[in-house]
Amino acid sequence: MPDNPNAEIVAIGTELLLGEITDTNSVYLARQLRDIGVNVYFMTTVGDNLGRIGEALSLALARAEIVITTGGLGPTVDDMTRQAVADVIGQPLEFHQHLYDGIAERFQGFGVPMTANNRQQAYLPQGATLIENPVGTAPAFIAESQRGIVICLPGVPREMKYLISASVIPHLLRKFELGVIVARTLRTAGIGESSLDDKIGSDILSETNPSVGLAAHHGCVDVRITAKAEDRRSALALLDEMQARLQERIGDEVFGVDETTLEDVVWDLLQRNNLRVHVTEAGLPGVISSAWSGGEDRLKTRLYERPELVFDEFALNSTDASLTAIASAIAPRVRQREAVDASIVVLSYPDLDDKADKEQGSAIAISTAAQTRYRGYGFGNRSNLAREWISRWGLASLWRMLKEEHP
Ligand code: ATP
Repeated sequence: MPDNPNAEIVAIGTELLLGEITDTNSVYLARQLRDIGVNVYFMTTVGDNLGRIGEALSLALARAEIVITTGGLGPTVDDMTRQAVADVIGQPLEFHQHLYDGIAERFQGFGVPMTANNRQQAYLPQGATLIENPVGTAPAFIAESQRGIVICLPGVPREMKYLISASVIPHLLRKFELGVIVARTLRTAGIGESSLDDKIGSDILSETNPSVGLAAHHGCVDVRITAKAEDRRSALALLDEMQARLQERIGDEVFGVDETTLEDVVWDLLQRNNLRVHVTEAGLPGVISSAWSGGEDRLKTRLYERPELVFDEFALNSTDASLTAIASAIAPRVRQREAVDASIVVLSYPDLDDKADKEQGSAIAISTAAQTRYRGYGFGNRSNLAREWISRWGLASLWRMLKEEHP
């Protein structure tokens, strides 16, 4: 198998440099290239200026085998990608009658007259291969030269995406005899990224095939394994082997694989062990209970507008104790009163502007027959963070408690 080629993405368009549109094309292209094992070391953004597009292309060709551009292929004077590519690879632009006829036909089909400037789109650098574009008018092309390959795609995301999967990726796979890349994600909850990193160990994390990487999002950390081989079967075998090694080190932390959600895993545990949960939500309706819609047989929810209403019900005085202490005092009492296996209590105040970070705005406590766990947060119920962190922490903790107690 040859070494993997490098690619550089060049996004063309003054709108991008003015911050008027976001460069989603480059992000999409980068992922597509990653998935076929093509390295991307640079992404460049350049405006609609012939000289500067030329400079960007020259630099890109000096450091990558494949250069992929998006944008600047339209009919107007500021669409200069064709000319810039022709200049850089040292080929003249050549008129293609059949391209012109095709563009004219599309206009006819739409019932709109074709303006003269559309003729521009029928020119390609000499020797370039046309990429048929059935989803738009701007013809895309691949220009191969001594300096490398330049692949020019339209800026319109829908067209660019279509051409990438229909033509460009198959072309690159054939040309560079690229292998197959497969990936699998082990999903963990309730353990921080650095602890997980430590448990996995630098020996595994420094391996390159399969490679193992971590991605943290609000209380959950994904462990992504990526393997490459000549065919799918061998790539999957590499994945399985790495998954087994990881399972030995972090098996206790993993709740599922790929699309598995924590919500589903906890629900399964409840079902399998015939358990019932009560959720008390004051100030944050649905933060935990909405994880399981339609699960009334296992889930009972009680909503309160404000935490004080819960304190009153349990005759607690909130001035003497912290919000976490109160939540953890209430959770077991609700569990007993409701005769359930687990009780979750969430208490959350509105954010109090400058006080929000200094005082505890939200608290959650979970009580089972064996234990009570709790956690406080510095933000209250107007912060989006409260919903994210409380729901993740709550589900992760409930999952851990249930699996410990019902192995
Ligand atoms: P067309 O023939 O449709 O004009 P084109 O290749 O000339 O295609 P541009 O004119 O550069 O493409 O861009 C068309 C539109 O596509 C832009 O107005 C913008 O909405 C979108 N676009 C362009 N580049 C990007 C990008 N990098 N990321 C996301 N959207 C983009």
